[in-house]
Amino acid sequence: DQSRIFEVKIINYFENHRLLIATDITELYQLAQIRRDFVANASHELRTPLTVLHGYLELLTDMPHEPQWDTPLEHMSNQTVRMRAIIEDLLTLSSIEAGSINAKQEEVDVPKILEQLKAEVEQLASAGHRLKFEITPGLMIKGMPEPLKSVFMNLLSNAIRYSPDGGEVSVRWYADEEGAHFSVSDQGLGISPEHIPRLTERFYRVDKDRSRVTGGTGLGLAIVKHVLDKHDSHLEVSSMPGVGSTFGCSFALSRVVHTQKDA
Ligand code: ADP
Repeated sequence: DQSRIFEVKIINYFENHRLLIATDITELYQLAQIRRDFVANASHELRTPLTVLHGYLELLTDMPHEPQWDTPLEHMSNQTVRMRAIIEDLLTLSSIEAGSINAKQEEVDVPKILEQLKAEVEQLASAGHRLKFEITPGLMIKGMPEPLKSVFMNLLSNAIRYSPDGGEVSVRWYADEEGAHFSVSDQGLGISPEHIPRLTERFYRVDKDRSRVTGGTGLGLAIVKHVLDKHDSHLEVSSMPGVGSTFGCSFALSRVVHTQKDA
């Protein structure tokens, strides 16, 4: 006999009555599993041919060639880099979904991570954004360092990519009686309310053309959502078209392991 998977809901009603509803979700679960495996396998299989293509393109670029090939070669090379980024993001998403990164919860030195990102971004932000960082020293949480770093990086790079040169981008990391909070605010395009609930869907874009130009993979916020999910947190978005956006997330006090006070 095959084992089945149930989703169980307990509903309280009246004084002390409880209703237990069990739904058989075996087929749904299996379909989701097939989809996950397919995406992971396809991404994995695409990696090698892409590496070969990219290698030969680099080789061709360095070899003597007619000048009219300069631009096409550069475009082809850029596009293979882009494809690689998409494949890496798809693989990251599958591994989060498969739960393989779920296990290790350790101390995460968020201030250190943010300092690193600041240095990385300052090199990138030659476009002239004004970057402001307000980081509470010593404020650490329990979680997964690398995935959390990608959350912060995705939100920060979006703020830069979707706001004009000279715009201010400010990052905050602080704690209050409810927990630890991260936020990034920009003075960029903003997002109209109807798009906000869909931002974390894979490949969902408010403006397809702009995203292609700014070079994202369309998977950044999907990754953010999944990683935060593993930290019992969620993405908070507030935005006003033409004014700017704030993206943030919070972590419960139970995750806070270290603050300046006890440092
Ligand atoms: P992408 O690679 O396209 O940036 P993301 O998943 O990171 O993919 O973001 C999804 C979409 O959300 C983006 O295409 C963009 O339309 C919108 N978006 C994300 N961050 C911002 C922001 N700070 N300001 C305006 N729009 C944003």
